[in-house]
Amino acid sequence: MAEKRDYYEVLGVSKSATQDEIKKAYRKLAMKYHPDRNKEPGAEEKFKEINEAYEVLSDEQKRKTYDQFGFAGMDGAFGQGGFSGQGFSDFGGFEDIFSSFFGGSGFGSSRRASNAPRPGQDRYIQIRVDFMDAIMGKTETIPLEVDEQCDHCKGTGAESPSDITTCSRCNGNGYIVTSQQSLFGMVQQQSVCPDCRGTGKRVTRKCRKCGGMGYEHKRIKVDVKIPAGIQSGQQLRIRGKGERGTNGGPNGDLYVEIIVKSHPTFKREGNNINITVPISSLDATLGCKIDVPTVYGDCELTIPEGTQPNTRFVLRGKGVKTRNGQGDQYVEVTVEIPKKLSRKEKELYEQLRSGQSESAFDRFKNAFK
Ligand SMILES: [Zn+2]
Ligand SMILES: [Zn+2]
Repeated sequence: MAEKRDYYEVLGVSKSATQDEIKKAYRKLAMKYHPDRNKEPGAEEKFKEINEAYEVLSDEQKRKTYDQFGFAGMDGAFGQGGFSGQGFSDFGGFEDIFSSFFGGSGFGSSRRASNAPRPGQDRYIQIRVDFMDAIMGKTETIPLEVDEQCDHCKGTGAESPSDITTCSRCNGNGYIVTSQQSLFGMVQQQSVCPDCRGTGKRVTRKCRKCGGMGYEHKRIKVDVKIPAGIQSGQQLRIRGKGERGTNGGPNGDLYVEIIVKSHPTFKREGNNINITVPISSLDATLGCKIDVPTVYGDCELTIPEGTQPNTRFVLRGKGVKTRNGQGDQYVEVTVEIPKKLSRKEKELYEQLRSGQSESAFDRFKNAFK
């Protein structure tokens, strides 16, 4: 398969484009490439690509995820092929797409038949991941109950293809039209065919595996690939694991919101990590070297002589690594004053004190003179 093109490139907009600009660009391109209007080879592919780009960039949450992780963030499952413009695959829905732009006056005259395949609803779940797993990335396996197409009947509900016949009541349309005489003349009413419930088909012998349902309720395990650097609240999309579609339509998608647990030591702020470490007053006074924990292991930090309490040091490149670069780690030092001294220590401190010409408090007080 050809390399996927950047969504911004597909719509021909800049990375900082406003929602208005995105909408405008999409409208122009979608009108140009809609398969109802453009019969050139490749137009359909192009149309799908445009819709996929718009679906992501028009949704601030999805756009943020895409900006940060690219396509990796858009599809969290292994073995899934990414978007294919699902939801627009039924091109009878052209009017639906454009009604919001043109006040309902679409170009297509085709009406979505009631027996057309429709994709199922999306589902949303949350999973909690450890702080470190969110930084390094991880594959979480989650149990899921999902309705999947019956592989024996391929979703038709019939034991064999010869067991499927066209509904005689609606001639396969899925709906029936009744005419009634009223005061104002003939009134036509369209309703779902009661014999086939809108499918347009009758099954003479039901599939023995699914009992004619066309799907099976399964307990499965899904691998959710969490990209390194993910932030709490970001969503991953897993294709085809949502609610089942109707009339043989594809399943909806599953959205997995990632909730990152907090860490006792590391605090994350964007791609930077903050940490507070205690040092002794002696080390602050004389300076020292300390091994500071980072998410990538210990890292040596030089505390210079005369370091004041709450000074912040930075360890460049020791923050969170994402597609958009790497953050830093900020190290704030707190200075601990000893609460208990040994006799020897007390003597040494006393010696130090007697040696100083003017204390900090003396300097402060002298300013009032
Ligand atoms: Zn029917
Ligand atoms: Zn079946």
